[in-house]
Amino acid sequence: MDALVDCGGCTSCCQFCNVPPFQSIEELMEQTDLPNNIRDPIIRYWATLNAVPSPGPCVWLQGGFCVHWEQRPRICRDFEIGGEMCRLYQQMTQEVNDG
Ligand code: SF4
Ligand code: SF4
Repeated sequence: MDALVDCGGCTSCCQFCNVPPFQSIEELMEQTDLPNNIRDPIIRYWATLNAVPSPGPCVWLQGGFCVHWEQRPRICRDFEIGGEMCRLYQQMTQEVNDG
């Protein structure tokens, strides 16, 4: 399945997490086929979380696609297209775009 193919290029729910929203180090380490140079920046981000100034797009979102779709976090897999959170993220994106 292509990344975000059912979302018409929306990507709103990927715009505010900065890094892939794995819920724990254990969940991240379950993705055993992720090389260290992909995994390490996420761990470094967690270590400096208090210093992160503001939410921004997930680093795995590139060119409108999740570039590690097969390894994406569970919360991304379970996200309901058209659900309440989907609509909320679209509204948040609209507000950011409107300035
Ligand atoms: S906010 Fe909804 S429509 Fe937009 S990318 Fe996420 S799931 Fe798809
Ligand atoms: S891991 Fe992929 S699907 Fe999840 S927020 Fe990042 S770009 Fe979006």
